[in-house]
Amino acid sequence: MDPAPGAAEQRGDQEAGSPEREPAPWQALPVLSEQQCGAVELVLAYAAPVLDKRQTSRLLKEVSAVHPLPAQSHLKRVRPSRDASRPHTLEMLLCLAEPAVGARSLAELLPWPAVDARGLGQPFLVPVPARPPLTRGQFEEARAHWPTSFHEDRQVTRALAGRLFSAQERAAMQGHMERAIRAAQQAAARGLRAVGAVVVDPASDRVLATGHDCRSPATPLLHATMVCIDLVAQGQGRGTYDLRPHPACSFAPAASAQAVRVGSVRKLDEDVDTDEDGLPYVCTGYDLYVTREPCAMCAMALVHSRVQRVFYGAPSPDGALGTRLRLHARPDLNHRFQVFRGVLEAACRRLDPDT
Ligand SMILES: [Zn+2]
Repeated sequence: MDPAPGAAEQRGDQEAGSPEREPAPWQALPVLSEQQCGAVELVLAYAAPVLDKRQTSRLLKEVSAVHPLPAQSHLKRVRPSRDASRPHTLEMLLCLAEPAVGARSLAELLPWPAVDARGLGQPFLVPVPARPPLTRGQFEEARAHWPTSFHEDRQVTRALAGRLFSAQERAAMQGHMERAIRAAQQAAARGLRAVGAVVVDPASDRVLATGHDCRSPATPLLHATMVCIDLVAQGQGRGTYDLRPHPACSFAPAASAQAVRVGSVRKLDEDVDTDEDGLPYVCTGYDLYVTREPCAMCAMALVHSRVQRVFYGAPSPDGALGTRLRLHARPDLNHRFQVFRGVLEAACRRLDPDT
């Protein structure tokens, strides 16, 4: 899903931003799941020419009753014939083909007397889309194989067009990423890797933690994201890292009343996961801004801490939120979150990758 170079610049002026504020030359683009990005998966099916068009509606009713195709409700049952040299003008989808496929007769595919096959010609195999298309690109690909219905996910379409966030939201996002960039620059000034991160509560737009990469030979796991998660935990009276030698790494100390309130209020909310202690996971409902795409360790830590959204500036060569892996969008993990790339991408690209 890599946008073409320069796509951000081209789209920047389409923003309906306030006239006095120059729109920022960056674009937050969604990092979609493998299923949304991938090619359309095909399965084989049997179709047959409709030789007698007057039988079409009767055949449609009888065939659909015998082979309802509940998992392929996106497939239209009848399509115009693609071969103009053929005498018939319509073709009807009959049923999916078994794994060991071969030629089948109408009698083998359509049980008599449930289906009176008069009006149909010899069945043939055809690849059809196995699942409903999720994006317009997949829809275009799917319907090249067989006519397909498409219920567009407006959220994904708007996101892919770069129109998901208002000018006000973009200004807030830019402010948070600028803070992460400053943290990365402070790390670089101390001889550390230039990666910065910020955790924000989007409900209040409050910054809960700011951190940078603190790794050393003695502490090789202190990547910026790991530092930030621990800082959020420290704000909740938890956390384990000693980050006092790094003054640019800070957290907003939750007032004790607030810590209790956060814990107890969220506990009452049945929708919020809790860990074994009955406390909400560290980053439940929060956003992370990080200058470069997190590595596999950091991305998995974000799954564990139940982050809600991640915004990163530029990809990392071994990144796990879009580049090498998409750990935020796996059906076999018990938490998924949204990821957007490209916030202040040009500035972030000059900083270190998370490796
Ligand atoms: Zn990392």
